[in-house]
Amino acid sequence: MSAKQSVASWFKTDSSLGEESHHRPEAINQQRQIDWLRILPFIGLHLACLAVFVVGWSWAAVAVFVASYLVRMFAITAFYHRYFSHRSFKTSRTVQFIFAVIGASATQRGPLWWAAHHRHHHKVADQEADPHAPRHGFWWSHAGWFLSRGHFATDHRQIPDLVKYPELRWLDRYDLAVPVVYAVLLFLLGAVLERVAPGLGTNGWQMLVWGYFLSTVVLIHVTLTINSLAHVWGSRRYATRDDSRNNGFLALLTLGEGWHNNHHHFPGSARQGFYWWEIDVSFYMLKLMSWVGLVHDLKPVPETIRNARRIRPS
Ligand SMILES: [Zn+2]
Ligand SMILES: [Zn+2]
Repeated sequence: MSAKQSVASWFKTDSSLGEESHHRPEAINQQRQIDWLRILPFIGLHLACLAVFVVGWSWAAVAVFVASYLVRMFAITAFYHRYFSHRSFKTSRTVQFIFAVIGASATQRGPLWWAAHHRHHHKVADQEADPHAPRHGFWWSHAGWFLSRGHFATDHRQIPDLVKYPELRWLDRYDLAVPVVYAVLLFLLGAVLERVAPGLGTNGWQMLVWGYFLSTVVLIHVTLTINSLAHVWGSRRYATRDDSRNNGFLALLTLGEGWHNNHHHFPGSARQGFYWWEIDVSFYMLKLMSWVGLVHDLKPVPETIRNARRIRPS
């Protein structure tokens, strides 16, 4: 890819995928190479966090940091993952779009890209073709895989049920649009608060750094631990064909995704904590949403499946 194409891809993602080239041995090495020019925005996202030493902090900024993390983590776990990738519940096209937009603000690319790679992961988890198996290197499973040339495009064959929505295709193609708008809104929020509530001690730049840059970088890396740590650290209840683990600490940070061995055992369920003591905040939120009619048909875990292929009894 030329330098010009790399820079153009910051703003518009070419969804076409030269899948046949993946299988040529000489192409495989190239696919695993990192396109440094193309990932400059990702590096910039991390460097921008250093501005926290310039803008300082306030309780208002910390509160927005936490809220920004929680709302977007919910959009990623409940919608990018459980809804778009696994269709584990149903919702209206409007709610689908609203949470696709909130998910896009998490700066983990569009819902189609995310779901296509994730479905592929489940099909070949921890095998040679897995996009992010820790067996291929821990750093690779955490971030190397999506920074490499081979995983930039979206394989539409994985997501025939999703590509029919033009609004989702748009979010996927212009995947930087929502994060930029979100960052600007946070800046404006801080600027308005500085005028109307100067006692809070915040301003536009401080809110931008805490609400967008710091919150987004933490959110991205915690999400990525499910691909990396949740395949190496934790316990295994089910004899799945992969290395997936249950990890209560990761489940708290990710609002329920840490029950990853449960999830690989039965990916179709809307809940990943299979027992009452396995805290799964995203599922509780989905349950609340179902009571007011925003989502419906949450798929449960059948008792026979919950008891099948067990390694340990509880
Ligand atoms: Zn997995
Ligand atoms: Zn999954």
